[in-house]
This record gives sequence, C-alpha cells and structure tokens, in this order.
Amino acid sequence: MITVCQEHMKDGLNLLNVPHVEEITQQYLEHRCIFCNKLAKFELFYVKPMKISLSR
Ligand SMILES: [Zn+2]
Repeated sequence: MITVCQEHMKDGLNLLNVPHVEEITQQYLEHRCIFCNKLAKFELFYVKPMKISLSR
C-alpha cells in the first residue's frame, strides 16, 4: 500500500496499474505522500483475490 497526496494520485495510479483508491478520512501524521512527502490524502492498494493467495 502506498499513500499519496491529491497532486500525486495520478502518479500513484500509474505506478500500481490497477490499485484500489481510498480517501484517507483520518489524518494520521505518518501517512505521507511517497512522491513529495506532504500529508497524504489517498491510499492506493491492491486487493489480492483469495484464489491467488490460496494457490501459492
Ligand atoms: Zn505528493
């Protein structure tokens, strides 16, 4: 999972290809944009399908 600010959400989307995006409603100070190190506004993350994790 990565966290990005509003400006860098597109960069984050390009980085992860098909991530899920969730707006950070609780502002934890540790959540910083990986691109500019400002406070992050969005979380980008994969949701791993159960089938894949079980097959390994
Ligand atoms: Zn940023």
